[in-house]
Amino acid sequence: MGGLLEFLRLPSLSTTGRGIAETAAWLCGQAGALGAQADVYPTAGHPVVAGVFPGGPRTILLYGHYDVQPPEPLELWESDPFAPALRDGKIYARGATDDKGNLWAALMAAARAHSVTVKFIFEGEEEVGSPNLLPFLRAHREMLACDACVLCDRGIHESGRGQLYLGNKGMIHVELRATGPKRDVHSSQAPLLPNPAWRIVDALVRLRDWHPPLPRPAVTGIPFEAAEYMATYGVDYVPDDPVARLLYEPTCNIQGIGAGYQGPGNKTIIPSTAFAKVDIRLVPGQDLPECAAMVRERLAGIDCTIEATMRPYQAPADHWAVRAAIQAARTAYGGEPVVWPHVDGSGPLGEIADTLGAPAFLIGLGSPFATANTHAPNENLEVDAFWKGIAMMEGFFAACAEG
Ligand SMILES: [Zn+2]
Repeated sequence: MGGLLEFLRLPSLSTTGRGIAETAAWLCGQAGALGAQADVYPTAGHPVVAGVFPGGPRTILLYGHYDVQPPEPLELWESDPFAPALRDGKIYARGATDDKGNLWAALMAAARAHSVTVKFIFEGEEEVGSPNLLPFLRAHREMLACDACVLCDRGIHESGRGQLYLGNKGMIHVELRATGPKRDVHSSQAPLLPNPAWRIVDALVRLRDWHPPLPRPAVTGIPFEAAEYMATYGVDYVPDDPVARLLYEPTCNIQGIGAGYQGPGNKTIIPSTAFAKVDIRLVPGQDLPECAAMVRERLAGIDCTIEATMRPYQAPADHWAVRAAIQAARTAYGGEPVVWPHVDGSGPLGEIADTLGAPAFLIGLGSPFATANTHAPNENLEVDAFWKGIAMMEGFFAACAEG
């Protein structure tokens, strides 16, 4: 654990670059001391630390990130975010769960796994959107060749059981713009002049149901307190089938919309411009280019930008590496792990899997989401989760070698 504490003392803020180079060099040195062949690879942004612990014939690629979110607001921390403090069985520090604790537990286990070959790639830009991750993977396809790729991030389930995520949703970003008269005009002229806000509203209505209806598979084995969840957000209804909806309903979310006068009272004008920003999440089974084309069709005649960035993805649940992870989680945590077919959010797993030609999935080794305070003050890692995380990954590598 001494190594982890040292890791947590190094600020590595991808937003500003503070401590990034030092942390990459330190991490590379540590991996080397643990028996890996490792190097620091420059990218167009922050460096990647990559390497290998040579071993048996099967190859697992580990992904983690050594950068962290900024610690502000500092006054809400009970101890210095870069001076790890032990309280109530938890280590408090920025990055404790996201992602240094995860990364370190996986690295410890990798150093002891001789029955499989473990390659690793630790990036320094995850918290700023990983702009150089896929270019790096594409440029080093051969060096990173593997049979399965495991991302260690997030945490165990609140119940103390293990937690896996086998995929993620896709993402299409849409920005709509409309212009009317060349300046705001007295609204008495509305019979003659176009209002760009109506053009945006009409386009959004067309976009809302952009996809044909999809089957919603039944989901079992994922505990979810729907009433409690809705109450957290002050919403007074409880949807049927919340987990299946969360996982299998494609979304069309208006993230921002604007036009015209928004102050107190009235200002009777026709606005000159209007805009909206929308994020659309795709579920496994939907095709990214096909969906982007459907979205474009709905928006015919509107000035818009459509960015199809990530495809939905789900690793095959019966792949030996997935089965090995489930088996290892049973032993390390006791009881059946919570296995999400995919996360409710979007991510690069599909692009990683396509680039490497191997399935990619996530194993959470940190504190449970509800208590980890990731991206927030007093981020922490349960010491017990850390030790179990090492055992989990040791068991995973052993099970991969067997079968
Ligand atoms: Zn994060």
